Amino acid sequence: MAAIRRSTALAHQLLVQSSRKILRSQKCCYGNFLPDKAYIGGAWVPASSGATFPVLNPANGIEIGIVPDMETSDVQTAITKAHTAFKTWKKTTAKERHDLLLKWYKLIMDNQEELAKLLTAEMGKPLVEAMGEIAYGASFLQWFAEEAKRCYGDVIPAPTGNKRLVVIKQPVGVAAMITPWNFPSAMITRKVGAALAAGCTTVVKPAEDTPYSALALCELADRAGIPAGVINVVTCSRKNASAVGKLLCQDPLISKLSFTGSTTTGKILLEQSAGTVKRVSMELGGNAAFIVFDSANVDLAVQGAMASKFRASGQTCVCANRLLVQSGIHDEFVDKFSKAVRKLVVGDGFDSDTTQGPLINVRAVEKVESHIDDAVSMGAKVVCGGQRHQLGGSFFQPTVMTGVSEDMLACREETFGPLAPVVKFDTEEEALAIANGTRVGLAGYFFSNDISQIWRVAEELEVGMVGINDGLISSEVAPFGGVKESGLGREGSRYGIDEYLNLKNLCFGNL
Ligand code: NAP
Repeated sequence: MAAIRRSTALAHQLLVQSSRKILRSQKCCYGNFLPDKAYIGGAWVPASSGATFPVLNPANGIEIGIVPDMETSDVQTAITKAHTAFKTWKKTTAKERHDLLLKWYKLIMDNQEELAKLLTAEMGKPLVEAMGEIAYGASFLQWFAEEAKRCYGDVIPAPTGNKRLVVIKQPVGVAAMITPWNFPSAMITRKVGAALAAGCTTVVKPAEDTPYSALALCELADRAGIPAGVINVVTCSRKNASAVGKLLCQDPLISKLSFTGSTTTGKILLEQSAGTVKRVSMELGGNAAFIVFDSANVDLAVQGAMASKFRASGQTCVCANRLLVQSGIHDEFVDKFSKAVRKLVVGDGFDSDTTQGPLINVRAVEKVESHIDDAVSMGAKVVCGGQRHQLGGSFFQPTVMTGVSEDMLACREETFGPLAPVVKFDTEEEALAIANGTRVGLAGYFFSNDISQIWRVAEELEVGMVGINDGLISSEVAPFGGVKESGLGREGSRYGIDEYLNLKNLCFGNL
């Protein structure tokens, strides 16, 4: 045991040494995007208290830089600036907003590699995935640039001859946004793109772990010519998050709150928003079932499971959380799937061989361990992985478990890590009962080649998004969001902009 601990410590030390070198060389590349200030009213500003907090690379714990640790007084300034900017931004034409959003989109794509490196440094995902996130995130700006021009109203046939009814759409006002660390760039553009297109201004609070991607977006928005006060980013540490969040929920100058994060935090924010009856959008946690029926193409299902389960080391809200596999193909699936999982390469996201980076922090590792321990204590079997990786820190081995049942923690809760628990089932009814036996309903997946079953299951799954013979479901053109305790509202697609618009009925009478 002591020898294992020594070799883990040595591996981690070597990783830190080589990471320092890599980080120094990469920093030259994304150094333009490392402000030590937040962005309020078009200016780069420190916290009024002067407080800061460090941003660490999760692969090695090395400090990337420091950012302001803002408090409610700073956030109040941001709200006022956003409110003032709203008075003029709401009057811009859709074409003007389109042009600015498109400029911003292009600047992001021109700087894709630098932004991706910054994202890998602060979040840990492999560089190739970070490149994908930057393009995915930018696609929302391009999409909503176009949607800005399509916020059509309605002319409604009036119930009496001397009236005419016209419905117009207007921006809701200042929109506050609180975003998580797992998609530090895309979770911001998906909200801000829609808000700006609608004519709203914004105050964004990014996650403590990943503020730089948010600030980098501000730098490029500034270069694109988006006016001062339209986008404000306030950075704060976890210590200040609840007070800042409370202010964003309760301030009457804010008309809308859009949140992406855990269901637990979402419920707190919903309660806090009740006092001012805010418009709210909630993109919350999931517990996606990934069902493989006997009729499925097993190779395709394995491919889909790899994409859905292990992207961002299992830390996406739409990650397969429970794999339900029908008894007729169970053994074949587990054999092929675990072979594919063993091929994953764990390492620093900057290493070109890496297909799985670290988890965001050691708390996340402990959660994965607790789910494995709980399942094993109840009779589940670890097929591969199951341990912290020898690189130490927050690296964890990609893990497959079989003999899992729905009463185990790994099925009841979102693991948010590289753990694939496999539950064997016999009938479609049984699979649906397990899949729907949870209070959350974000994404669900199933693989089948039986067309009747495909329609039945797609309609019966209690989720907002279904991947049918596909493990990757999100894009800017499709509505993203959940049912039950996974949230309220939709992001992306032609529906996403509605979250930032009020309908106003103009009733012309006595004509
Ligand atoms: P989280 O703890 O809820 O944090 C998300 C954001 O909320 C962070 O900015 C966090 O700040 C802030 N926050 C935490 N407590 C707060 C409070 N009391 N008041 C105001 N703000 C508060 O979620 P997470 O663990 O970072 O993210 C993972 C969760 O997000 C998972 O459940 C995942 O499924 C969900 N998610 C959902 C979607 C979706 O679209 N449905 C997308 C991505 C992730 P700090 O960083 O300072 O703690």
